[in-house]
Amino acid sequence: GTADLDCDVLVLGGGPGGYSAAFRAADLGLKVVIVERYATLGGVCLNVGCIPSKALLHVAAVIDEARHLADAGVVFGDPSIDIAKLRAHKEKVVGKLTGGLAAMAKMRKVAVVRGHGGFIGANHVEVEETTGSGQEKTGTKKVVAFKRAVIAAGSQAVHLPFLPDDPRVVDSTGALALAEVPRRMLILGGGIIGLEMGTVYSTLGARLDVVEMLDGLMQGADRDLVRVWQKMNAPRFDNIMLKTKTTSAVAMKEGILVHFEGEQAPKEPQLYDLVLQAAGRTPNGRRIGADRAGVAVTERGFIDVDIQMRTNVPHIFAIGDVVGQPMLAHKAVHEGHVAAEVIAGELTGDKALAASAFEARVIPSVAYTDPEVAWVGLTEEQAKAQGIQVKKGLFPWSASGRAIANGRDEGFTKLLFDDSPEAHGHGRILGGGIVGTHAGDMVGEIALAIEMGADAVDIGATIHPHPTLGESLGMAAEVAHGSCTDVP
Ligand code: FAD
Repeated sequence: GTADLDCDVLVLGGGPGGYSAAFRAADLGLKVVIVERYATLGGVCLNVGCIPSKALLHVAAVIDEARHLADAGVVFGDPSIDIAKLRAHKEKVVGKLTGGLAAMAKMRKVAVVRGHGGFIGANHVEVEETTGSGQEKTGTKKVVAFKRAVIAAGSQAVHLPFLPDDPRVVDSTGALALAEVPRRMLILGGGIIGLEMGTVYSTLGARLDVVEMLDGLMQGADRDLVRVWQKMNAPRFDNIMLKTKTTSAVAMKEGILVHFEGEQAPKEPQLYDLVLQAAGRTPNGRRIGADRAGVAVTERGFIDVDIQMRTNVPHIFAIGDVVGQPMLAHKAVHEGHVAAEVIAGELTGDKALAASAFEARVIPSVAYTDPEVAWVGLTEEQAKAQGIQVKKGLFPWSASGRAIANGRDEGFTKLLFDDSPEAHGHGRILGGGIVGTHAGDMVGEIALAIEMGADAVDIGATIHPHPTLGESLGMAAEVAHGSCTDVP
């Protein structure tokens, strides 16, 4: 049939993956349409993820920092918190960024079609127009024809079926809405998202419990890093329940009554003013009519792609959370660029562009807690499990002048180098982890070192400015290389 609109590239979803693909494709000369059901671009990350959480975490970190200053003889007294104003501050931060994206789309002549999109064929998407701040349908439908499509539909929080439908039970989006500060809060799932939100609420005055099915918090990170975070953060928690199952929950007048099962579970059910579901995210692959375009979707809703981000249908690509773990914005952005370049290469006959591929060796992870926990590449746990011989360089921040001056010397920087016989003592860096303030801002240097194949001498001989926390990277490399056996 006829279409209301046609384009070279249709991008389904306006999150970090989608807008990155759209902007790159437009910059490469293609006619691009983004279909997005919400009023603003930016997806989960800008609207209800990375950015609002960091705006609140920044405020929490400043409050905590001010409290630490008591040790230096400066006492501020308890902060008075205007929650409505704090909410407005967060919204302003988000608005600045989503507004910037809208302007960038306009500048590039990328058309944004507002509505819920679904494939109706291999070259057509039908968009049901939505309006307002949510997804209210207006009843108007539009068909967009495309030569290529990029699926960037993202993910949403897993909702546990046994939790009651109650305003005191929220997911991360609800927690970021910051309706009020509860007295007792349960974090269901001890991953990064739950612990970041818990940090905000506890600094604002809530007491925390966390329940996790596995045997440790922040899965994926080496335990030595997590231990430092856990020691500093123990005062925030009444109960850290590991290897514990949440079996049921009932909404009562006084709160949400939650039952647990496991060795570390409290005998009695516990009452909470707020329960945060942070037990993972599920991809949106089953909600876009993929079958009508012939695109294969796994049972769990993921879409499999090759290293060029191509699905089983050669002219349809997929990127971001919907293609799998790790569900992180920086991964989505890079995948979006690859998809756009491959498409532009194919449509314009540029062979170099058409050969673009996602070949990142590593993708960093960061928990923006206090202290931050950041890691990239091989972990010690993985090295052990895979029988990879590594040489470790660990630099404790108790020996860092800057960390001591900051009054925050609890952290450390750890680098892992290939120590297999074939490396002949000059092994390349395979991974690293940092726990401490600003760890997330520093882990990018480890990622760069891994991508460039640096060894311990390369990193140790690189002059880092003094006194900085970043110096700890050079020191850790020197420790591994053995030229710094007695740490200053
Ligand atoms: P999304 O951001 O999910 O965007 C998908 C978009 O597609 C959405 O806007 C959605 O409305 C739209 N859409 C879906 N289906 C349709 C349809 N049928 N029609 C029209 N539109 C549709 N990652 C980090 O790297 N760093 C962080 O600090 C970080 N913090 C986070 C904090 C929280 C609380 C949460 C929840 C997540 C966080 N993440 C973080 C993860 C990050 O938000 C995601 O990895 C990222 O947003 C994925 O981008 P995406 O483009 O794949 O999908």
